[in-house]
Amino acid sequence: MSVVRIEHVYKDYLLGDQKVQALKDITLSFDPGVFLAIAGPSGSGKTTLLNLIGCIDAPTSGRIYINDADVGGKTADELADLRNRAIGFIFQTFNLLPVLSAAENVEYPLLQRRDVPPGERRKRVDHFLDVVGLSRFAGHRPNQLSGGQRQRVAIARALAILPSIVLADEPTANLDHNTGEEILALMKDINRAFNTTFIFSTHDDRVIAKADRLVRVEDGQVSVLGVRADDKWYLVRQTADGQAAADGLET
Ligand code: ADP
Ligand code: MG
Repeated sequence: MSVVRIEHVYKDYLLGDQKVQALKDITLSFDPGVFLAIAGPSGSGKTTLLNLIGCIDAPTSGRIYINDADVGGKTADELADLRNRAIGFIFQTFNLLPVLSAAENVEYPLLQRRDVPPGERRKRVDHFLDVVGLSRFAGHRPNQLSGGQRQRVAIARALAILPSIVLADEPTANLDHNTGEEILALMKDINRAFNTTFIFSTHDDRVIAKADRLVRVEDGQVSVLGVRADDKWYLVRQTADGQAAADGLET
């Protein structure tokens, strides 16, 4: 089983009458539980790729499978339901609702879930605020929290739906170096503890160094696939079905 499978995906944007090819023939497949960095310079297609995996946007052509289900044929309502159940989002600018407390921000995505009753909602809010070390700040509004604390709230919010995948678009880009390291370490702890798949974009080599899988994109194409084992990176090549086959090449 793969948690995410992408087959020959292209994404074009229209800018006036100009076509921008943001992604060109991307084929990838990831096992559940990976801690994956999507790396590449600004404009290389990282956000576009995350938005497609997160079913926020649809490819121009090609197929995307989440937990082995093809998302191509789904209606807007079905996609919203998939996002609400399976995919947690973390953003560079935290995207917390400023008028809500930390606890209310964590609770927010659960309000769309009729299958999660109020008692269970409160339990999850308490639990995940505790997981990110913010129980004492439950009543604080975002503007009463530091950047690192805000990102912790965003992580708790992403986890509250018990997602199979957490997508994070440059989650440390607005944080100082030490705080960024703490946030990454927290994500890694959660990845290990719950086997939650994390897919995060970055252009920071120190962030890449924390990943166990690497996809480097350049100009909308995959330029490098890497697997880290025993603290060493191994380059891998892609086979036609998107599975990574190790070449045993050390970087
Ligand atoms: P990254 O996240 O790596 O900086 P993006 O995925 O945001 O890259 O962008 C990839 C390419 O697609 C860039 O050339 C960018 O200008 C273009 N692009 C992204 N979003 C849009 C959009 N909504 N409309 C037009 N072009 C876009
Ligand atoms: Mg981006």
